[in-house]
Amino acid sequence: MSQRKGISLCDPQIGEGEKQALCRVIDSCWLTMGERVAEFETRFAEMHGRETAVAVNSCTAALHLALAAIGVGPGDEVLVPAMTFIATVNAVLYTGATPVLVDIESETRPHISLEHAQSLITPRTKAVVIMHYGGYLMDLDKWSDFCRQRGLVLVEDSAHALVTGRVGQVADVSAFSFFSNKNMTTAEGGMVMAKDPEVLNRAKCMRSHGMTHSTLERDRGRVFSYDVVELGQNYRMDELRASIGLVQLESIREWNERRLELTGLYREIVAEKMPEVVVPFENGHETSAHILPVILPESSDRAAIMAALRKEGIQSSIHYPPANKLSYHRERWFAGVSLPNTEEFAGRELTLPLHPGLSDSDVVAVLAELKKNL
Ligand SMILES: *Cc1c(COP(=O)(O)O)cnc(C)c1O
Repeated sequence: MSQRKGISLCDPQIGEGEKQALCRVIDSCWLTMGERVAEFETRFAEMHGRETAVAVNSCTAALHLALAAIGVGPGDEVLVPAMTFIATVNAVLYTGATPVLVDIESETRPHISLEHAQSLITPRTKAVVIMHYGGYLMDLDKWSDFCRQRGLVLVEDSAHALVTGRVGQVADVSAFSFFSNKNMTTAEGGMVMAKDPEVLNRAKCMRSHGMTHSTLERDRGRVFSYDVVELGQNYRMDELRASIGLVQLESIREWNERRLELTGLYREIVAEKMPEVVVPFENGHETSAHILPVILPESSDRAAIMAALRKEGIQSSIHYPPANKLSYHRERWFAGVSLPNTEEFAGRELTLPLHPGLSDSDVVAVLAELKKNL
């Protein structure tokens, strides 16, 4: 669907259905927080075995609300991965709590390590945020037991994984992303789900200034005024985005399947043609196949490989520069924090193109070019 030439890293699957949905919203003249937002919340929740959810304008907002709604605040510590997009860590900072970085298990399993997490627990630890790196699901039972036994809240940053396995069903609170490079998109957008209806209601209230009643309710004459019961934000989703989301939900399962198929092809060719390259996680690990990370041999020059791929019109990326290495975070929050596995992984990881619009021959072309430059 891309108008661009070459092989892009990710490509939103968007077309006629979304265009028509947008036109219908414009014709309806109700632009935000209306029936489409409500329908999107219900449908998304149902696809995750829940009754309802709270739609917001980003996953960053969803993470902030999730943490705020469970009562994380100043004086609390929250265990978070360093191998994640920085929004995961920032959400903790927004609440006034202290993020404590957890190292990954190993370079072939970039999930946070339970042993390391255990060693970081203090009487102030309130919650653990897990992130399904690349869409590869964390062991939800293991982490939910870990949290229950220690009285901690389990928060799930599910930006990479949706409509997959038991995502959204086990953690206490879950945050999803519909940014344009994710498995489905609303251009910008996010969703919060929670086990406890009271937590979800609190997130809903905080989404819109801590107000007790929405504009829609007032428009329908159910109530004539409102009260503000806590400090909220404006994290609302609009009808245009929700209408795109509803169209996207119709295809998400199919897109996830195609991503998985392409991942299988990548794994097969890498194993056969360049065994010195490692694809993290095993074949068969439950995943939404959000990205295709590989670990380059120690001797490879990653920057040179990325430049060579770019010359052939092939986009690549790095997921992620670790949180303890970014200037602001290193200087202000994580001075002296060293995470050997995370840093080793971050130094050698390369993300290759993966999206449902890729053909099998695109995968073959990407890997041929990679092999040439290893
Ligand atoms: C994309 C992403 C986010 C932030 O999502 P936005 O919707 O862009 O705010 C948070 N965490 C992870 C792991 C992500 O990949």
